[in-house]
Amino acid sequence: MFNRHQRRAIALRDGGCIIPGCAVPAAWCEIHHVVESAHGGPTHTDNGVMLCWFHHRFLEWHQWKIRMNRGVPEVQAPPWNDSSGRWRPVTKSAIRLTELLVRRT
Ligand SMILES: [Zn+2]
Repeated sequence: MFNRHQRRAIALRDGGCIIPGCAVPAAWCEIHHVVESAHGGPTHTDNGVMLCWFHHRFLEWHQWKIRMNRGVPEVQAPPWNDSSGRWRPVTKSAIRLTELLVRRT
């Protein structure tokens, strides 16, 4: 289980459910182990992302894929949403979005 400090760090990074188009705020989200603890995934902020109840429970059904890339969560859309198979970084955190803007300029 993630402790409350880790939860806070992940909430600040992700800002809410990371699935694009989902508006559920961090306070109502659960922490998802990107690599399941059963498969050796550590309970570390770099292995945890915020998902709302729905997206967490139905992850296999809606087929969004999630991975971490150097501490930034990325998602791959299911084929019915985007057939390109492209991974895109996701965050709704104002801090992170500002950082991304600064890095691009
Ligand atoms: Zn969601």
